[in-house]
Amino acid sequence: MSICTTCPYCGVGCGVIASPDGQGGVQIQGDPNHPANFGRLCSKGSALGETVDLTGRLLHPMVGGQQASWDTALDLVAQKFKAATGTYGPDSVGFYVSGQLLTEDYYVANKLMKGFIGSANIDTNSRLCMSSSVAGHKRAFGTDTVPGTYADIEQADLVVLVGSNLAWCHPVLFQRLVAARKDHGTKVVVIDPRRTASCDIADLHLPLKTGSDVALFNGLLSAIAQADAVDGTYLQHVDGFDAALDIAQQVDLTKTGLDPQKLQDFYDLWVAHKNVVTIYSQGVNQSANGTDKVNAILNCHLATGRIGRPGMGPFSVTGQPNAMGGREVGGLANMLACHLDLENPDHRACVADFWDVPNVADKPGRKAVDLFKAAGNGQIKALWIIHTNPAVSMPDAAAVRAAIKSCDFVVVSDLTDQTDTAQLADVVLPAAGWGEKDGTVTNSDRTISRQRAFLPIPGQARADWAQLAEVGRRMGWQHAFDYQTPAQIFREYAALSGRAGALGKDFDISGFSDLKDTDYATLTPTRWPVTASRRGGRFFADGVFYTPNHKAQMLAVKQADLPSKRSAKYPYRLNTGRIRDQWHTMTRSAKSPRLSAHLAEPFLELHLKDATDLGLSPSDIVRLNSPTGTALLRVLISDAVSPGNPFAPIHWTGETAPSGRIDDLVTANVDPFSGQPDSKASVVSVEKFHANWYGYAITTQTPNPNTAYWATARVAGGWRLELAADDVPDNWETYTRSLLGLSDGDVISVLDKARGHARIAILRDGIVVGALFAGPDPIAVSRDYLAGQLGQNSPRILAGRPGADMPDPGPTLCSCFGVGVNTILTAIETQGLINVDAIGVALQAGTNCGSCKPELTALLGRAQVKVAAE
Ligand code: SF4
Repeated sequence: MSICTTCPYCGVGCGVIASPDGQGGVQIQGDPNHPANFGRLCSKGSALGETVDLTGRLLHPMVGGQQASWDTALDLVAQKFKAATGTYGPDSVGFYVSGQLLTEDYYVANKLMKGFIGSANIDTNSRLCMSSSVAGHKRAFGTDTVPGTYADIEQADLVVLVGSNLAWCHPVLFQRLVAARKDHGTKVVVIDPRRTASCDIADLHLPLKTGSDVALFNGLLSAIAQADAVDGTYLQHVDGFDAALDIAQQVDLTKTGLDPQKLQDFYDLWVAHKNVVTIYSQGVNQSANGTDKVNAILNCHLATGRIGRPGMGPFSVTGQPNAMGGREVGGLANMLACHLDLENPDHRACVADFWDVPNVADKPGRKAVDLFKAAGNGQIKALWIIHTNPAVSMPDAAAVRAAIKSCDFVVVSDLTDQTDTAQLADVVLPAAGWGEKDGTVTNSDRTISRQRAFLPIPGQARADWAQLAEVGRRMGWQHAFDYQTPAQIFREYAALSGRAGALGKDFDISGFSDLKDTDYATLTPTRWPVTASRRGGRFFADGVFYTPNHKAQMLAVKQADLPSKRSAKYPYRLNTGRIRDQWHTMTRSAKSPRLSAHLAEPFLELHLKDATDLGLSPSDIVRLNSPTGTALLRVLISDAVSPGNPFAPIHWTGETAPSGRIDDLVTANVDPFSGQPDSKASVVSVEKFHANWYGYAITTQTPNPNTAYWATARVAGGWRLELAADDVPDNWETYTRSLLGLSDGDVISVLDKARGHARIAILRDGIVVGALFAGPDPIAVSRDYLAGQLGQNSPRILAGRPGADMPDPGPTLCSCFGVGVNTILTAIETQGLINVDAIGVALQAGTNCGSCKPELTALLGRAQVKVAAE
């Protein structure tokens, strides 16, 4: 039977139809009826079926590294939290949760911490993602509310992407934009220091200096006023225009580093197109002045009244599947549930009455960075981390690992006990994962959708809400946490939102408060609010805001300097972000061979000038140092970044590439309003990493690398492995067997001791089960071809590449159909393919999820440049 559910990755919140095969596997399709995607899926969503197997799953509770019963584990958790609060007070404990939680999980966690334990020390990893948007929205609108809908993107005449690589990070929205552009010529502007895949469709790319967005948008506000494009009628609903404009007119646009004519072109486009949507994401939010950046953008929309109407508005897109749900339910340390304010006595009284407690927490709790600092300095005595991996994903991650290690008592709820964080915990609780758990999520345009179970919960794993409720009961609050189903929790939450609505808040889904179990089971995607009189719709077009005087607030914001300064010691400014086919710390997406084929190891994207200055060649490995940590990364020379401003992806961990943990390098500078860390502007040094040997290996068994640099990735039937080290093995055969976990099998090898080359393959009955290629320089072999030889009778394996009779496909570009770069380039040249559609007809590349289309366009450009040069 097929089940309608939602994708567990990004905040687009695509609908998925899952068809289990009854043997633990599942077929995945996009849901044609879901309003987020209308049937589309990106590469990550399409590969979900490869991620639901039980490999690596934790199936029972662990206490002190030993298997334990649920009773033992939960009693210990309840006792430790109770002991800490009893001795040191409620603020001595904390929860660090995640945008992977369902709303029902979030609700119970928030109720337990803010209502019953009596502290607001619950924060979510959404703090690292969009809390600057939350703070900006609240300052401008008096509420954290996204005004528009995805359909606005299709109705806009101009779409501006600010600090958003939509093509890779919200791919289905990007596909909707591509389609809209094709249908009615939507203009697209990309504002990003890097030339990303999203620039593929841009009419204008503004590669601004890191962090100079406030200057750029102040310039826009000034240009709007100069062009007489201010909407005087709408300004009746807005306070602060004069002060904001006054500051904006003092802007020094040279701070953006942009060509003045290009800037003017952007300002002219913005003024000329009333239907403008400004989409922004981590490049805006992950900044030490992220909240001011958000308000600089909102100022322009408020001054022109371009907000909340079809085809226009500012649009913060969320990172995680339920980041928005977490914001609504009070997952952040500075909010109560249902958009109610922690520092408002009436709101606190309302929630306390509803939960039947004397008081709720009356001051904001510790935000993520402070929470882990407090865990490290002994102020937090007990910490529960749920579905997130802060030991890798927090800034200054090495210090966070030390803090978790030193904290008196740490519980982790997750699918596995192998994450960097779980390995430091006292107790690890096995959690239900995507496909096994049931509840709701809210996506970036406020649409609430069901995530539904379609697989049995394995072993002794339990849903997060059930774990939290059990601990609540064992701490003495039996009645308050007597939940049996997620539907029961959802109804309670909806009823609380009705109280919030009565207090004048916009988040009101009280229309769901008497939803029957059967209605909850069949709930279709619905945008909030949901009340007796209103269902869905937009906010703010009517000029009604949620500030005390019901007017919007324009903020007078100034461009600030970046907190980390470049110096002779740290001359480079490091930008960080996501790649197309991986998700966060890869606990799910790294299980998929086809997703792992796209970019299989951590890298530093570096401009040719920097590479030349540093004496680097393509494929060298570099060491990065920052004031907080160090990393080793493969060099990828590129003109997509500017000199002095390299980029590195965030995904690799102790499990997949321990020297590639990028957040070890990121300084924990936070925005003063949102507490969101600046992940885009750390300072680093870069130098060549000299190893005595480099290697590439494949194996059918879990590898055991311990070299200075290594990175693993899944391939069909096994793993691939990159290596670099100083100590040259005495015996390559013995070393290879140990590295590849292959104690038996026949060895064939070519060893050249004089030149330091070793090529070794291990065969069972003539079938390749492992191979290592090593030498004194970075290894030049056909990696994807070799990965495809695992489990094959491959007599030419030691050649390291296919024979002349078999073309080398090159690195995989289209994950869905496994089409390599060389195959595509050859087809472009030999078949005269002139566009992405033609490539699709010839090779299928780009015809499933479409996520690789921007890269196909780039390849077409490369081929055309080559032809022009010939
Ligand atoms: Fe999932 Fe991709 Fe849709 Fe995001 S865009 S929700 S990752 S399918």
